[in-house]
Amino acid sequence: MKVFITRKIPEIGIKSLQEKGYDVVVSSFDGVLPREELIQSVRGVDAILSLLTDKIDGEVMDAAGPQLKIVANYAVGFDNINLEDAKKRKIFATNTPDVLTDTVAEHTFALMISIAHRVVEGDKFMRAGRYKGWEPMLLLGTDMMKKTLGIIGLGRIGGRVAYIGARGFDMKVMYYDVKRNEEFEKQHNAVFASIDDILKQADFITLHVPLLPATKHLMNEEKFNLMKPTAYLVNTSRGPVIDENALVAALKEGKIKGAALDVFENEPETAPGLSELDNAVITPHIASGTKETRDDMAKTAVNNIIEALEGRTPPNNLIK
Ligand code: NAD
Repeated sequence: MKVFITRKIPEIGIKSLQEKGYDVVVSSFDGVLPREELIQSVRGVDAILSLLTDKIDGEVMDAAGPQLKIVANYAVGFDNINLEDAKKRKIFATNTPDVLTDTVAEHTFALMISIAHRVVEGDKFMRAGRYKGWEPMLLLGTDMMKKTLGIIGLGRIGGRVAYIGARGFDMKVMYYDVKRNEEFEKQHNAVFASIDDILKQADFITLHVPLLPATKHLMNEEKFNLMKPTAYLVNTSRGPVIDENALVAALKEGKIKGAALDVFENEPETAPGLSELDNAVITPHIASGTKETRDDMAKTAVNNIIEALEGRTPPNNLIK
């Protein structure tokens, strides 16, 4: 059995595939594989371990050949895989849910705290040698405790963020999801509301939806106009959920107070002007990037491959 891994992942995953006796090839290219190379590299393989930066569609699946059994994504988001194309070809597609939930929720709070307490601005200020001593009005931030937290997408990660906000920061939780969760509402005193009502009322709004046609540019100029000028937006979901040019305009015009983002509309680029704004905190798509979680993601993706290659349905199968 041949397995192709599109870019180096933690060793623990590669080892378990090798221990199974599979012929494992890891791309030696230190970057996103150019399309042509991806197509050449998958020829004859039984499994592809892909990253969210690899576009896996029918063309890639056909290039692999009819023996291809699984595309195992090393991410919980799977907007880079064409599931219809996989289904037509009876190929499993899998993701790595659950193992990264807490880590992404932590990073969401890292971003929220950083923007509210002006941590990054303060750090830059210190390093620039601008600190001349304590001042009553220096870099004043915003409290989070007891504020209203608006969650759009109350799935695994959104639910965990709501839990931390409610328990850790005594925040009042409002949420919107295509599926209402009344049990969660009771547990956390959370309020189910429309997106527009959340935008009008929440002090901190955080996005946890998958990227779908329905969620692309879910946050656009019209939506920024609904937000309070004192409110902050956090995004650790997928970049295109926000119209990033409209966000830059909203930040510049003071329509909203600040934004903290781990994902961008056209990665690795950021919208013109974004990186110059002091009221934005930006991290390079590292929300799931802890040593523990990246190892667990490797184990999960590899386990899906082993299950599929041994003739069973992989636990994180996405093909319905
Ligand atoms: P999940 O499937 O558990 O949760 C997604 C939630 O969004 C679900 O409850 C779903 O019902 C809801 N939803 C779907 N469409 C919606 C819509 N149109 N409006 C409102 N709600 C909608 O997924 P998860 O594990 O919580 O992950 C969420 C997303 O976070 C992933 O899809 C992925 O894109 C992103 N993510 C990013 C990183 C990162 O490194 N920044 C890491 C992990 C996940």
